[in-house]
Amino acid sequence: MSGEGRVLETPKPVSDGDPEMIVCPSCEQLVPQGSSYCPHCCGEDGRRGAIGRGAMFGWLFGFLVGGLASAAWSSVVGTEQTTWTPVLTMTFGCALAGVVIGILLNWRR
Ligand SMILES: [Zn+2]
Repeated sequence: MSGEGRVLETPKPVSDGDPEMIVCPSCEQLVPQGSSYCPHCCGEDGRRGAIGRGAMFGWLFGFLVGGLASAAWSSVVGTEQTTWTPVLTMTFGCALAGVVIGILLNWRR
């Protein structure tokens, strides 16, 4: 049993040019330039960031659709007949649906 002469090799640092690093505007940590998300802010796989973007986009889109639907509906029934409750329900309902759709679209991609 002779383990002599075996020296553990220390791994050499890869020195063929470090990838360009940029500074994240929110947390001021160095992140690789190619990455579309900050691993410090968005988590390791960036899924949280993608879901957040999807939810925000869905919210805006749903709000737009809901607002247009409310406007169309109020023009059908007449502005005097339009009450705030169904308008708000429609607008926020569409916005919430947009959030759910946006999250589902970005889930596990
Ligand atoms: Zn960051």
